[in-house]
Amino acid sequence: MSDKINKSDDEWKVKLTDEEFYVTRQHGTERAFTGQYWDCKENGQYVCKCCGEVLFDSDTKFDSGTGWPSFYQPTNSEVVEETKDTSHGMARVEVHCNKCGAHLGHVFPDGPKPTGLHYCINSASLDLKK
Ligand SMILES: [Zn+2]
Repeated sequence: MSDKINKSDDEWKVKLTDEEFYVTRQHGTERAFTGQYWDCKENGQYVCKCCGEVLFDSDTKFDSGTGWPSFYQPTNSEVVEETKDTSHGMARVEVHCNKCGAHLGHVFPDGPKPTGLHYCINSASLDLKK
């Protein structure tokens, strides 16, 4: 895996829209059913909005009914990093890009087979490469 990316907030702001910056660099969450990809059924690879790392494949995307793009697994276990998030009075597992640290979303244990995992990801953190 290539080296990690470390940029200042000012450097990210040049590259990202306000909402993308809020979600990926400030651990924000876009409103459900508002993102670009929650209902997207096109084939391709979802890459990190910030650094272009391939994170999820459209083959593993499923309709979770939550209004956010949902996947049952990342392209491999190295590309995402998971940390415990106890903000908002909930115990959740946060997922972020291992390469650049972008906040992606959360992972829940209510996903479909074969993994049983549900990666609930913000559209603003992703770019679809068809
Ligand atoms: Zn990244």
